[in-house]
Amino acid sequence: MHELSIVMSIVDIAEKEAIKANVDSFSQIELTIGSQSGIVMEALDFAWNSGVKNTVLENAKLSIKHIKAISKCSDCGYTFEIENLYDACPKCNSLFTDLIQGNELQISSLSYDK
Ligand SMILES: [Zn+2]
Repeated sequence: MHELSIVMSIVDIAEKEAIKANVDSFSQIELTIGSQSGIVMEALDFAWNSGVKNTVLENAKLSIKHIKAISKCSDCGYTFEIENLYDACPKCNSLFTDLIQGNELQISSLSYDK
């Protein structure tokens, strides 16, 4: 399952951060997820619950910041929010667009109780 490997790599990063910060666990984690990242939230939730067991994230409160996908038209330069990756430019109808935001999947913050 795709989402489980994502959770495992997040755990991996968190484990390294825990060593750096010299803490045993994190109390909170925030992820930034773009609408075009391909993440299925239900699957992520499910994978999260099993993936963080016995790790520094086991008791961390998970919060997710969703960001909208934005594309830039290669023909007219207009930037616009998209629903689907291949949406045409609303200004000139061009299909040549570049995703400039929306496929993110990153840890935006990790916090721990001192
Ligand atoms: Zn355009």
